[in-house]
Amino acid sequence: MNEHTHKNCAELLGSLSSYIDGELNPELCQELEKHLDGCEDCRIVLNTTKRTIDLVHSPVEKPELPDDVRERLFKRLNLDDYLNPKLQ
Ligand SMILES: [Zn+2]
Repeated sequence: MNEHTHKNCAELLGSLSSYIDGELNPELCQELEKHLDGCEDCRIVLNTTKRTIDLVHSPVEKPELPDDVRERLFKRLNLDDYLNPKLQ
């Protein structure tokens, strides 16, 4: 039995960002998830919103490379000069 109606979509989608941030109260969370179960439109919106937020929040920092890996990489790229500028 599919009890889904679209009348709550706009209302629930208004809480979506709070839901993604984990700031939504448990009752509304449950209601939202129940609705998402039966509403593909809202799931798409949720996924799109999540992806957008992930992009915005994705770490800007570059991963730390171990020194030897970095050295090998730099050598391969012929960037020794950048590694040891003082030795020139
Ligand atoms: Zn919906």
